[in-house]
Amino acid sequence: MEIEPDELEILRKPDRIIEVSLPVLMDDGRIKVFTGYRVQYNNIRGPYKGGIRFHPQVNLDEVKTLAFWMTIKCAVADIPYGGGKGGVAVDVKKLSKGELERLTRAYTRGLADFIGPSKDVPAPDVYTNPQTMAWIMDEYSHIKGENTPAVVTGKPVEIGGSLGRDTATSLGGFYVFEQVLEKMKLPKNKISLAIQGFGNVGLNFALIAYAAGYKIAAVSDSRGAIYDQQGLNIEEVLSHKQTTGSVIDFNGLKNITNEQLLELPVDILAPAALEAVINQTNAGRIKAKIILELGNGPTTAEAEIKLNKKAVLIVPDVLANAGGVIVSYFEWVQNLRHYYWEQAKVEANLEKQITNAFKKVWQTMEAQNNNCNLRTAAYMVAVERLVKALKVRGI
Ligand code: GLU
Repeated sequence: MEIEPDELEILRKPDRIIEVSLPVLMDDGRIKVFTGYRVQYNNIRGPYKGGIRFHPQVNLDEVKTLAFWMTIKCAVADIPYGGGKGGVAVDVKKLSKGELERLTRAYTRGLADFIGPSKDVPAPDVYTNPQTMAWIMDEYSHIKGENTPAVVTGKPVEIGGSLGRDTATSLGGFYVFEQVLEKMKLPKNKISLAIQGFGNVGLNFALIAYAAGYKIAAVSDSRGAIYDQQGLNIEEVLSHKQTTGSVIDFNGLKNITNEQLLELPVDILAPAALEAVINQTNAGRIKAKIILELGNGPTTAEAEIKLNKKAVLIVPDVLANAGGVIVSYFEWVQNLRHYYWEQAKVEANLEKQITNAFKKVWQTMEAQNNNCNLRTAAYMVAVERLVKALKVRGI
């Protein structure tokens, strides 16, 4: 690419890093102080945009990386946002609902000066959900003295959330998946999938693919995985999870581990959980021909080199899971216009936006005579858009 080293230098660092201490009154009367972060990577193409993660392993390095990936993702998707990410180091499973609400409101107060509809617009991520967004929207609206739904996306529909936002990441991933199958000339009835993670993204992707007639041979959650070569009935797995709390111990099937799931003899592997699950240790044992990155950063750089040598096609996170932030954009537009769309319109616009992104990335890869992989092609598309905006703004 014809890019000046100085221009790349600007993209190498986040604009701003915010760290907040959050004292929270616990149910037992004691006070616990949590640490929260928001990294605003850059806003060259629009307000900072990206989710908030509540997870015990959250740390500044991780949030910076995720904020960078959001910058690339929004540029690949061609939506008018920069990139950001937030996180609080906390195990939500150990908090009551009241404690979680007080923590979320404390985090919002800590960030109130830095977020806003045209500044920085958070959204859900790992272990945050529409309820979390509702508390943020409410706290922020109180602080500003005006109803401000556009400060966050992924809200409940009752307070300005978009129809179709909850399933958008999975549906977008499914549109990308079908495009990939077409390019690779893989017929639907000849392939099997393994999906790691049964949170919002993994679960909804499994439901959508199952309803469309695909064979899903394995799924997992944080407690373990199940595998059936013949294919699982995902609706039954879901009701089993709803009654027992996990997908494991399903219908007399043998449980396997999350690590074993990744190495199964399936055609498509869709990691929809945390980072670095496909790494130097297990990359040599991965048997799937295609990896659809529904979660952020599941494949390490070292693993990717090994997998490229084995001609495994990796559909990168910044493309495969962009459906979430694309519908976040639609939600924000609806909030700013006070005019709400039907679900069919949301989904049709999502399909168009993500299919265009896929085509652009695929063409970019082919234009390099297939000398680069899909991730590099996606980064080329993003960096070109970022640098053009940078130049014209004259930063
Ligand atoms: N957390 C999601 C992601 O990583 C969604 C971000 C958003 O909608 O702003 O893409």
